[in-house]
Amino acid sequence: MYNCAKCPGYCCSYPLIQLTKRDVERLAKHFGLTFEKAQKKFTTSNWEAKYAMRRKKDKIFGGICQFFDTDARRCTVYEARPAICRSYPGGRCGYYDFLSHERRAQDDETFIATTFSKLEKDNMAK
Ligand code: SF4
Ligand code: SF4
Repeated sequence: MYNCAKCPGYCCSYPLIQLTKRDVERLAKHFGLTFEKAQKKFTTSNWEAKYAMRRKKDKIFGGICQFFDTDARRCTVYEARPAICRSYPGGRCGYYDFLSHERRAQDDETFIATTFSKLEKDNMAK
């Protein structure tokens, strides 16, 4: 149905990755930090979410989760990843369907289709 190993990581580039308190606790334990230090280091807070995943720049999507290896295109905290990452995509991955369709259309198995305009990418990098 989908193969994360062949995907550039669309789901990890989502602008808001919302964590729970339990997620922050798990990350704190994983890195041997206090809850407060992990909260400060790994999350930001805004009107949408108390614990929003910090992001970093990415050459493909503009911005991506801080824990994403942007060269290997994979998660670096798989064992300690948040609940939302564990539950996604559930059954079928819409992003992977989109990617597969574009790769077939381009007849190129390495093609990376982006779903974002340059303006969106610039905004997502912020
Ligand atoms: S977008 Fe889908 S295929 Fe790609 S990494 Fe996420 S879950 Fe895997
Ligand atoms: S924690 Fe891992 S799986 Fe979740 S968004 Fe970040 S890189 Fe992706």
